Amino acid sequence: MYHLTRSPAAGIQTPVTKIKGLCGHAIDLPALLDATAGNAAGSSAMLYARCGVCGEGTEMRLANGGVTVGYSYFGGSLHFEPMERYPVKGLKVTASDPDDLEVVLGGRRWRFAVDTPSRHRFVVFDNAFAVGRALAALEFERLSVVVEAVERGAERIAPDPELVVRAGDFLHLRGPAPALTRAWHHMNDGGGRGAA
Ligand SMILES: [Zn+2]
Repeated sequence: MYHLTRSPAAGIQTPVTKIKGLCGHAIDLPALLDATAGNAAGSSAMLYARCGVCGEGTEMRLANGGVTVGYSYFGGSLHFEPMERYPVKGLKVTASDPDDLEVVLGGRRWRFAVDTPSRHRFVVFDNAFAVGRALAALEFERLSVVVEAVERGAERIAPDPELVVRAGDFLHLRGPAPALTRAWHHMNDGGGRGAA
C-alpha cells in the first residue's frame, strides 16, 4: 500500500510514510495511526510508538507535511522538545470540534477524540516526588488515572503495586486529559491537588 521507495521510472518519490524512531528503527505511520486512533489525545497531535524490534519508545508530533520526533513533558502545559523532523508528503492534520483531531494521509483518514480516555507516557525526572515510591503509594487511582505500564529502558514492566519507581522510568498512564495533567503534577511535586 505504502512504500518507502523511489519510482525508478518516473523518478518521483512516492509518499514516505515510514519515519525513524529514536532508536533508529523504522516506524510505519499508517500502522501506528491504525493502532492509536481511538485512544490517543486529540489536539496535541502527539503519538507514542513502541519499537517492534527493540522495544524502545518514540514520541512524535504530527503536523501538516511532516512528523517531528522528540520528547514531551509538562511544564504547566504540554511541551514538546523536537529532535528530528521528517517530511511526510500529503500528511494533513486538522483540529476541530474544538479539540478533536483529524489526520489524513495517502487517501486515508483517522479521527482522534479528546474526550475519550487518552494515554500518555510521562518521564520520571531525577527530582520527582514519585522517585523511590511504590506505585501503590502514589495512589494514581485517586486522580482517576490508571497506570498501564512502567517503561524502564527497553523493558515494559507490568504495573505491580509494589513496584518502586526510579528516575528515568516512563509511566504509561491512561485517563481523561485533565486527569493526566493532574497526575503529572502529582508525580512531580506530590501535590495531588484537585483529585477528582
Ligand atoms: Zn528500535
